[in-house]
This record gives sequence, C-alpha cells and structure tokens, in this order.
Amino acid sequence: MNGFFHASELTTVRAQPTLIPHCGACKLYRTCKSPKMKPNGKGKLGILIVGEAPGSDEDIQNKQFVGTSGQMLQLSLSKIGIDMWRDCIVTNAAVCRPPNNKLPARAVEYCRPNLRKAIEQYKPKSIILLGAKPVQSLIGWLWKEDPGPIGRWAGWCIPSQRLNCWISPTWHPAYLKRQEKIKGYAVLERMFTKHLKVACRKTERPWKEVPDYKSQVTRIYEVNEAAKHIRQFIKNNKPIAWDLETLTLKPDGPLAEIYSCAVSDGTATIAYPWHGEAIKATKELLVSDVPKIGYNMKFEHRWILKTLGCRVRNWIWDGMLAAHVIDNRPGICGLKFQAFALLGADSYNDVVAPYLTSENGNTRNRIKELNLDKVLTYNGMDALLEYKVAQIQSKKLGMSICTQ
Ligand code: SF4
Repeated sequence: MNGFFHASELTTVRAQPTLIPHCGACKLYRTCKSPKMKPNGKGKLGILIVGEAPGSDEDIQNKQFVGTSGQMLQLSLSKIGIDMWRDCIVTNAAVCRPPNNKLPARAVEYCRPNLRKAIEQYKPKSIILLGAKPVQSLIGWLWKEDPGPIGRWAGWCIPSQRLNCWISPTWHPAYLKRQEKIKGYAVLERMFTKHLKVACRKTERPWKEVPDYKSQVTRIYEVNEAAKHIRQFIKNNKPIAWDLETLTLKPDGPLAEIYSCAVSDGTATIAYPWHGEAIKATKELLVSDVPKIGYNMKFEHRWILKTLGCRVRNWIWDGMLAAHVIDNRPGICGLKFQAFALLGADSYNDVVAPYLTSENGNTRNRIKELNLDKVLTYNGMDALLEYKVAQIQSKKLGMSICTQ
C-alpha cells in the first residue's frame, strides 16, 4: 500500500491528454513558408489521408500532396475511382515543412494533437496512413508502444475500437517513387493500389456498437463457483481458448507457480485464481476431449505437464503458429499485435505489462503486487482475444474452427 491507494491503482492515474501541439518545443513553424498547414479536401467519402510532412512544393502552395509524390498518389487513387480532393481530407503527421525535408526525431510526437484534432473534427470512417511517420503518430498513440517499421504495418486494415473507424497503413508514395527502378516495382505498385482500394471501400464504420471485451470477462474469486463454470465448459464440449498467468516465465525453477487461469468459448469468459477445486476442474477440462485453442501452446502445455503431471488433450489451434502461416513478416505474431490488427483491441495490457517482466525465465515477475481484479481481467482478455483471433485466422485459412 502507498497512502490511500494500492500501488497498482496508482499506475492507472494518468495526466489527461491534451490536444494542443507542442510548437514551442518543435519550432518547425518558424522555418517554413506555410506554418501549421490546415487539412484540405471535401472528404465526401469520409476518408482521411495522412502523409508525413509538407515538402517544398506543398510549403510554397500551402496545400498537401501537390508535389511529385502527391501527383503519384492522386493518380493511384483515380485508378480506383477516387478523387482525392473531393472524396478525402488530407493532412500530415507534422503539419509544417521541416528544413531539408528531414523531420526532427520528436516532431511527430509534438504535432500528434493536430492529427487527433483532425480525427475529432472530421470523424473519418477510414484513415490511410502513408509511411512510417503517420504510423508512429496514430498507432503509436493508440497502441502505446513504438510501432516499429512500416513494413510491419503495410497492408493491414485495422478496425480501431477506440475510433470506430478503419486504419490502413501503407507505404508513402515517395518511397514507391524511389523504388521505380527496382526489379519488383510492379508488384510493389500493385500492392500499394490494393491497399488504397481496400481502405477506400470502407465506407461503413466497423461497428454499430463498439464491443466492450473487458465487460465480457467474469472474474470468479470463489474456487467452487469457478469449478462449476469450468465443468460446464466440459458439458458444452465446444472449442475453448484458455490461458495461464504464471509467476515465472518457465515452469522448471523452484519459484515457478501458476497464479490464475482463464477460459473462453467466445460467449462466456471466466478468469479465476489458481486454487483448490478450480485446479481439479481445470485438469478435468484440459484432459477432456473439449477442443482447445492456445497462443504459443507449448508454453501452457509445458506448465500443465510440470504442475499437474498430465498432457493437454485435443489442441486444435495455436494462434501464434497460424499468424506465421498467414503472414510471415517479423514482429506481427504476438497476441497483442494480432488482437490490435484484427480486432482493434489496443493497449489492454497497459496496467499489467510492467509487472510481467522479470530478470530471467526463472525469477519472479511482480504480478502479485497487482490488484487481483486487474490480473483476472487481463487474463480473461487474453483468453477471449485468443478465441476471437482464432476465429478470424481460421476463416482466413478457410477452416472455421469456431462457429459463433
Ligand atoms: S509541426 Fe506541428 S508541432 Fe511542430 S511547429 Fe508545426 S504545428 Fe507545431
């Protein structure tokens, strides 16, 4: 305890985000001809296009995408029946031209409030992010992590729960122009047009009502009550996703211990502490014929073998392996990435993540310091998202393993 608050509760108290750009720190407005360029376009189809920053032509004309790469973008859009100035609103991740077209390291962060204001004002149904800087601005804000290279994001069409709109990152047309002489350019150009086409066809929002996954997780503290629910999953005999929270990464050391478990059949999701009758019922479930979905299933498998001395029966899906099979780019196979890219579930592990780290696989993390309610919610979210991700992945592979 720390004063009136539990330490874990203090981590959720954050300064309110502000929508005022940090121009004083950024200073780019001082060196360009058209400072603080406003968004342009009529936006009739509700599409917002976000570039990196104005170039020299744009700065002179006080208008985005009027230079060579802008013309290339307009041509690509016109091929798919889109008139950029009529159908879209256009802006940039940094709205002042940087000297020598080189954006200072923190300019995007300083200018992010302008992009957020544009989203609030125009309420787009579809947002196209052209290049790494817009990805850093918008996805960096939604996802709360460094989004990394554009190659990881190009081509996804993300249904953002927070904004209830589609987010489609792709390459910046200037990058494409630089590739014109390479061998695979025609393929790259086709992919770019395809990304634009998918994004421009999103004329409806992802949801009429945005799902609230956290509210779908039932936390059960009483072990007999948990056991009753677990045995109901056995009776139902429908595919379930399940997930463990453990105090160490590996199950072999003297400090290894399972802390909680969560099970989801896509409709009901329960999370409970690993204790007494709940452990017994979980073992019955895991050795039963109930089809099992996991994420990196060898992790859970090893833990159960070590702790309960039995093997998990009837695995039908591993979300991590499926992610690899569908798209083998690096850095996209973790549950957090897949849950964001496929379901728009952003930063659900914010509170818990700092408590999950440990020095090595056999030393303890700090998850016990957290409020149990938060751990169970996180554990339940993992199981539910594993299920939902498996649903989408299996459809993509034409295998539909989960019917609801
Ligand atoms: S780029 Fe954005 S944050 Fe930087 S000076 Fe211009 S308006 Fe301000």
